[in-house]
Amino acid sequence: MGLREPAVTPRISVVVAQPTPFCNIACSYCYLPGRSDRSVMSPDTVRALFARVFASGWCAPELTIIWHAGEPLVVPVEFYEQAFATIEALRPADVTVRHSFQTNGMLLSERWCSLLRQWQVGIGVSIDGPRRFNDEHRLTRDGRSTFDRTLAGIRLLKAQGIPFHVITVLSEHSLLEPEVLLGFYRAEGIEDVCFNVEESEGAHVSGLFASADPQGRYRQFLRSFWRLARREGGIRFIREIDSLLPRIFRPGEDEVQNIQVEPFAMLNVDCHGNVATFSPELLGLKNDAYGDFLIGNIVRDSLEEMRASPVLAAMTRDIAAGVERCRAECGYFSVCGGGAPVNKLTENGTFGSTRTAFCALTQMVPTDLVLEAFEQVQRGLEAVPPEALAPAPMAAGSARAAPAT
Ligand code: SF4
Repeated sequence: MGLREPAVTPRISVVVAQPTPFCNIACSYCYLPGRSDRSVMSPDTVRALFARVFASGWCAPELTIIWHAGEPLVVPVEFYEQAFATIEALRPADVTVRHSFQTNGMLLSERWCSLLRQWQVGIGVSIDGPRRFNDEHRLTRDGRSTFDRTLAGIRLLKAQGIPFHVITVLSEHSLLEPEVLLGFYRAEGIEDVCFNVEESEGAHVSGLFASADPQGRYRQFLRSFWRLARREGGIRFIREIDSLLPRIFRPGEDEVQNIQVEPFAMLNVDCHGNVATFSPELLGLKNDAYGDFLIGNIVRDSLEEMRASPVLAAMTRDIAAGVERCRAECGYFSVCGGGAPVNKLTENGTFGSTRTAFCALTQMVPTDLVLEAFEQVQRGLEAVPPEALAPAPMAAGSARAAPAT
């Protein structure tokens, strides 16, 4: 089981487009810079972006477009009506496009639901569980709770029959109470869940990362949540487990694609048209070796010109070195494919490194749990029903491509 060889021709699988950097709330763990900046991506930038992507010949047959990196619903519905129509008019017949929002859900309305339904937009809502967990970090700019309005948005999606998933950032406190989180999801009819762990980013210091044995605590949480969810029902998809199953149990020659380590596989574009690639979180960061990580501007530069960027060459070289070290040193490589460059850089100071606290939590722990469950099923211990090891079906959401926010 190996990693796909570096593509000779780039292949764009995901575009993360920033309609605006602005966010209507101020979560304490947010890594996004410029969240008070009300700039909006212009129609010309939308057109230039997708004209170049589709004309490049680099576009994957199924392109996911994630509108993110600010709160996407603070721009008007009309922005997306125009943008989606522009993209549809430019789209080659042999490419399918799937739009996706990651939102705090507070601004959802029937008008938004009409748009979601019309364009079959995947939607993920960020909520950190019941009120006492959610309001640890997810607060308005003046420090008030976001819980009621986010939950109202989720209930509206349910009432309108619109599929969605939630992303819950686990804190050192919610990690201790998987049954409370499960009870909340079941009570609200939330069936597809994704967990992120609270990371230390910018000025925010993660209580989880600062605590003793975060890996062991996360393992305990995920094991308990998975077992409870299977036993009690109501949860269809746990991203941390279900998206991993086809990566673990797959034909030997099948390749794992890690789009964060391939240049252009993720094209990350801010509202001014500035372009970065690899991990989406790099857009907006700065670094002595790579500057602002930008490889060009989509209005000014062709993708071929960006491909010749010295910054891209340096990042590609260093990220590839890290992947090769992972390949040589890590027993999880065939599942992981070399990790998240942004975490290698921010945690270890270099793309050329291997293990991070992030990969231990997101790759190693879930893989160990799946293999542990598989072994128990093999030995007839029945701790996990065999059907739990089949990939779960999922609603038409987009959690597999959900950014780690
Ligand atoms: S789990 Fe970590 S060390 Fe292993 S391949 Fe992935 S990034 Fe590299």
